[in-house]
Amino acid sequence: MKITKYNNLYQITWLPYIFPINCYIWECRDELLIIDMGVKNFVPEIEKISKRLRKPISKLLLTHAHADHVNGIPLFHKTFPHVKIGISQRDVQLLKGDFTLLPSEPQSKIKGGFSKEKIHIDFTFKDQDIINKFEVIDSPGHTPGSVSFLNKSSKVLIVGDAFQVRGGVAVSGTLKILFPFPSLATWSSKVALVSAKKLQKLNPTILAVGHGNVLINPVKHMKKAIKVSERKEN
Ligand SMILES: [Zn+2]
Repeated sequence: MKITKYNNLYQITWLPYIFPINCYIWECRDELLIIDMGVKNFVPEIEKISKRLRKPISKLLLTHAHADHVNGIPLFHKTFPHVKIGISQRDVQLLKGDFTLLPSEPQSKIKGGFSKEKIHIDFTFKDQDIINKFEVIDSPGHTPGSVSFLNKSSKVLIVGDAFQVRGGVAVSGTLKILFPFPSLATWSSKVALVSAKKLQKLNPTILAVGHGNVLINPVKHMKKAIKVSERKEN
C-alpha cells in the first residue's frame, strides 16, 4: 500500500506496481471525506489515518459503479456503519444489476466488472450538487453515471476513470497498451471525450484518477490526451 499526500488530499494506492487502484481521502477541518473504495484493504489504512488525525469520516462518495471502485464497501460499511455512502442517481442502477440504457443514451453495451456482493448505498447525488465543498460534475462515458468531484477553492479534481494516468495519460476509451483495463471497461468513448473536454475546461490544479499517480498542473496533459481521443473519434 502506498500513501501519498498533496495538501489536503491523500492518495492511497493498492498494488501500486502491478494494478494500481486508488482511494482518496480529503481532509476537511473537522472530518474526512473518502472517494472510492475499490478494495477492502483500504479500510484499515483509512482507520489508521482517521485515528492519527483525530477526525471522523463524514461520507464516502463513489465516482462510478465498477467493482474496482466499490468492492471494499462491505467491509467499509461494517467498520464505519454510520458513514453515509453515495453514488450518482444513474450509476446506482448498475449496482442494482439494471443495465437498461435510457433512450437518450448511446445504445452500446455497458462494460466492465461489477461486484457480486451487495453494495450498500445511503444516498444518491446529481450534477452540480455540493457535498462537503465538492461539486458533483457529471462526466459520463466510462459508465453512463460516472461523475467527478471538484473542490471549488483548491480546484482539485477527482475524476475516477474519466481519465487514466497509469500506462500514459488518456481519456477514458483510449487504449493504452501498458494499462488497457480502463479503456476496455469504457461504455462510450464518444461520450467520454465530451466529458473530458468539460473537465479540462474546469482548469484543475490537481487531477486525481482511479488508476495512476496524481497529476499536478494537469491541463496540458489533459489537452494532449483529448487531442489523441479526438483523432480516434472523428
Ligand atoms: Zn471503471
